[in-house]
Amino acid sequence: MDAELSKANNDCPWASRAVTVERVATADLPTEHGEFKIAGYRSLNSDEEFVVLYKGEMDPEVPTLVRIHSQCLTGDVFGSIKCDCGPQLHKALEMIEAEGRGAIVYQQQEGRGIGILNKIRAYALQDEGADTVEANEKLGFAVDARTYQQCAEILFDLGLCRVRVMSNNPKKLKALETAGLRIVERIPIEIEAEETAAHYLRTKKEKLGHLLSF
Ligand SMILES: [Zn+2]
Repeated sequence: MDAELSKANNDCPWASRAVTVERVATADLPTEHGEFKIAGYRSLNSDEEFVVLYKGEMDPEVPTLVRIHSQCLTGDVFGSIKCDCGPQLHKALEMIEAEGRGAIVYQQQEGRGIGILNKIRAYALQDEGADTVEANEKLGFAVDARTYQQCAEILFDLGLCRVRVMSNNPKKLKALETAGLRIVERIPIEIEAEETAAHYLRTKKEKLGHLLSF
């Protein structure tokens, strides 16, 4: 092991442990935000798949911009304004492009882990007046069923250790720290909310503890 790697592993001891994800393929991905690399990972203990978009050299010593983005079909693809997911994703890509270095792990835990069909069922309850937390509870789901450990493992596998996390979600920050990443900074990622998303964001702040400034 060369000196640089051993230093990195001392600093990020968790990184030398066995990981439960496997990189399947990596390719170039030119986007409207700039040139990125895309890598596909699969979980070794479930059928979950992950995608990571990254740019620049992944250096354990350099505090690097990262985001864990949870899939939101309605927001990311269809431009829904019920939530702020789509603009957050694009803002994160813009910030990484501007910095020339960073990574976004895209985890396919749609609807905070309940899946797209159940998310639509929850939206139907919201049409009748429930908020995002009450809707999940009425359907018998955890308010937030996501886990992030494998996202952290992917960041390690890319070669990162010190991270500047673009997130408003304290659970994601905690999970990355627990997994052994060193969080050197949290970068708020706030989007001016459309009127329809305002109630949703207020619920995330008041019931889920999201770090939002309004
Ligand atoms: Zn969303």
